[in-house]
Amino acid sequence: MKKIPFVTKEQVEEMVKTFPTPFHLYDEAGIRKNAQAVKDAFSWNPGFREYFAVKATPNPFILKILKDYDFGCDCSSYTELLMSDACGFDGKHIMFSSNDTPAEDFKLAAKLGAIINLDDFTHIQFLEDTIGYIPETISCRYNPGGVFELSNGIMDNPGDSKYGMTKDQLIEAFKILKSKGAKYFGVHAFLASNTVTNEYYPTLAKQLFELVVEIKEKTGCDVKFVNLSGGVGIPYTPDKEPNDIAVIGDGVHKAFDEVLVPAGMGDVSIFCEMGRFMLAPYGCVVTKAIHEKHIYKEYIGVDACAVNLMRPAVYGSYHHITVLGKEDAECTETYDVVGSLCENCDKFAIDRKLPKIDMGDYLVIHDTGAHGFSMGYNYNGKLRSAELLLQEDGSVKMIRRAETPKDYFATFDCFEELGLCK
Ligand SMILES: *Cc1c(COP(=O)(O)O)cnc(C)c1O
Repeated sequence: MKKIPFVTKEQVEEMVKTFPTPFHLYDEAGIRKNAQAVKDAFSWNPGFREYFAVKATPNPFILKILKDYDFGCDCSSYTELLMSDACGFDGKHIMFSSNDTPAEDFKLAAKLGAIINLDDFTHIQFLEDTIGYIPETISCRYNPGGVFELSNGIMDNPGDSKYGMTKDQLIEAFKILKSKGAKYFGVHAFLASNTVTNEYYPTLAKQLFELVVEIKEKTGCDVKFVNLSGGVGIPYTPDKEPNDIAVIGDGVHKAFDEVLVPAGMGDVSIFCEMGRFMLAPYGCVVTKAIHEKHIYKEYIGVDACAVNLMRPAVYGSYHHITVLGKEDAECTETYDVVGSLCENCDKFAIDRKLPKIDMGDYLVIHDTGAHGFSMGYNYNGKLRSAELLLQEDGSVKMIRRAETPKDYFATFDCFEELGLCK
């Protein structure tokens, strides 16, 4: 599918008068339309809730948009819990799906009344030792091992992943948790990442539904929810078709009717923790071409770099690029589009066919709304950019300011003699 930016050259020319490039820009209309589609797709399940994976786009203004749909937050750390609490999410709307969890994090999660999702069998004792009790509602993360396969091949390799418990551990965990006072139970699994197929959730759901029927038989535990977690992907490349969340919802519904309803478990709620699917297509990086270089290859240097978007540098991920104002121009050139880090992996695109780029052109790097800004870092003393929200009425709101050198030096603020923090 042809990738069209949600912002035009004229709009960007207006924005840069107030907010210099580079910046992350989010599309409120797109986020809302998609959130509603997710809600509609699972409306057959009265207890359904999406807990947005905060790590994908940890911005309070984004979380508050999702709150309008009665979504919750999926947190993995202390600061994500603090942010969710500050945005007004109550415990019922916070899922705490962490791993290798520090005691302080469990304490805060318990204090907020969040639903705690245990990654490991040993965390039962650790949690009890840390907070002094086992919560009434508790969830456990499952890892079936082996490989996770769909009809079009192997999707991922749970057997090599550090997350979750084996089936035997899970059943034992439920028995112990019940004996320690837990009343309501959930099962969680995340078995494949960025799946661009409508089959992933339904296949996973069927496996988990069969598992919870077995657990209920073996332990007598009251299973209240099945958490399908994240992993629903988006097409980063133009040759792929996007997932259809309505089809995915129907597929999960069918598995629900086949497995849970006959087992007398038709009251189980479906939860999910999508990050990428909720936000990735509705964010982009806007950056300006500031240098061109002709050596053994043709390079375009832009004012963003891997600290603004590290996926291409670390995973070799493809992010589509559009040169604003040249949307329909022929791709006559072959460029490496690079940032300014002293690392050769700092390339947003390698051997990319693009229209002829002139200095000062604005480039849109697509699909950066999730796992984009949030993976940012400060290597080479580079500063994180601003985040802007293109609101439904067409106006632009800054939802995070750009860092300044003062932010970079802030952790030296107890060393007055250095004079860096004035
Ligand atoms: C990262 C993560 C998610 C979100 O994954 P996406 O691929 O962005 O949907 C959800 N749950 C947990 C536990 C995660 O670690």
